[in-house]
Amino acid sequence: MNETSSSQLPESVDVLIIGAGAAGLMCAATAGQRGRSVLVLDHANKVGKKILMSGGGRCNFTNLYTAPENFYSENPHFCKSALARYTQWDFIALVEKHGIPYHEKTLGQLFCDNKSKDIVDLLLAECRAAKAQICTRCSIQSIEALQKGYLVDTSLGRVACESLVIATGGLSIPTMGATGFGYDVARQFGLNIIPTRAALVPFTQHKRQLERQQELPGSALAVTASCGEGSFNEQMLFTHRGLSGPAVLQISSHWREGQAVEFDLAPGYDLAEWLQQRYAEKPDSHLHNVLAEIWSKKLVQHFLRRHGVDSRPLKQYGASELAAIGNRLQTWQLVPAGTEGYRTAEVTLGGVDTDCISSRTMECKTQPGLYFIGEVLDVTGWLGGYNFQWAWASGHAAGEVA
Ligand SMILES: Cc1cc2nc3c(=O)[nH]c(=O)nc-3n(C[C@H](O)[C@H](O)[C@H](O)COP(=O)(O)OP(=O)(O)OC[C@H]3O[C@@H](n4cnc5c(N)ncnc54)[C@H](O)[C@@H]3O)c2cc1C
Repeated sequence: MNETSSSQLPESVDVLIIGAGAAGLMCAATAGQRGRSVLVLDHANKVGKKILMSGGGRCNFTNLYTAPENFYSENPHFCKSALARYTQWDFIALVEKHGIPYHEKTLGQLFCDNKSKDIVDLLLAECRAAKAQICTRCSIQSIEALQKGYLVDTSLGRVACESLVIATGGLSIPTMGATGFGYDVARQFGLNIIPTRAALVPFTQHKRQLERQQELPGSALAVTASCGEGSFNEQMLFTHRGLSGPAVLQISSHWREGQAVEFDLAPGYDLAEWLQQRYAEKPDSHLHNVLAEIWSKKLVQHFLRRHGVDSRPLKQYGASELAAIGNRLQTWQLVPAGTEGYRTAEVTLGGVDTDCISSRTMECKTQPGLYFIGEVLDVTGWLGGYNFQWAWASGHAAGEVA
């Protein structure tokens, strides 16, 4: 049995992994290669659903510049050990070993040339080679700690194991099979949970704001989005519900209800100064034509209307008036109504408190033989392949010892 949904489960295995996502499959392959008997159980009808839908269907499987600074956690040091021992270069080597074509899109983000399924096939091939068994459509009913090991009751029977690995991910996209199961297991064994919230998620805006920008959905522009200590220079997209695009997803991880987000709508420009230069070079040009060098015509019209600015030839404005227009157009402060929540979030901030977990092995400090890996832990990456790199690294760390 490698991947099955109906076979009889073994009565006992060395390593039982709950969750056949990115972290669980990496852990299974790693532990199996050490000669451990491994069983992976998942309640979904197929493995790696989030991998399949990731990166717009092309899976942004790692980032060339992965570093601990790209992760959020109550303990920012926790991720260092695992990331150092299984790096982006290790996963790239695995991708190359399987002959999967890939490319760098931007900012070190590596994507499959073809489709995300290549990464799921890679993981399944590694699990097959390691003789790890995978069983889908299997729900977990209870977990009991024994003197040594664990007893797990499932919809397909009871399995005893020496090591139990929880790899059930976070809460984002419940329709893809996400549950709070991992947090429940952590609570069962007295572990603390850092409060969770949807992250890498689009902002929603109030109805009145949406009405004012109803011609904009589909328009995108480069911005610097800043909130609290976060600042990201990427694309922003206007949607029918509010704002999305990489800059918005990134800053959503820093935002809290009621806070303002500041957007620099023309990063790299000092619009006040730039308009003065344009005035010196092309005094007869209309303001809207000059601004169309930076933004689309639709955005220019919208921004001018929002600030009540009439478009005239540049020579008809005074120098201080032009500077004031540049300053007003440059920045936009917005208090989002909220976020789209777990329905569309890519990840969950918070999770199992890393204080309870060994950063080297992912084993629970107070519960020998119990491991937590991947997104269920309070380690959350930026947008750009970092979350998968955490899944590979933490899965590998546990797989080496479980
Ligand atoms: C739309 C989208 C796009 C994304 N794109 C990227 C990207 O391009 N790059 C990137 O780095 N990250 C991306 N991410 C984030 C990335 O998918 C996750 O961080 C990563 O999958 C986490 O791996 P994991 O193994 O911890 O959890 P998951 O991959 O979520 O796997 C958890 C598994 O546990 C199973 N499970 C859950 N509850 C139970 C239960 N009660 N019983 C049994 N099984 C259970 C689930 O069915 C699932 O198979 C994306 C996420 C989304 C939602």
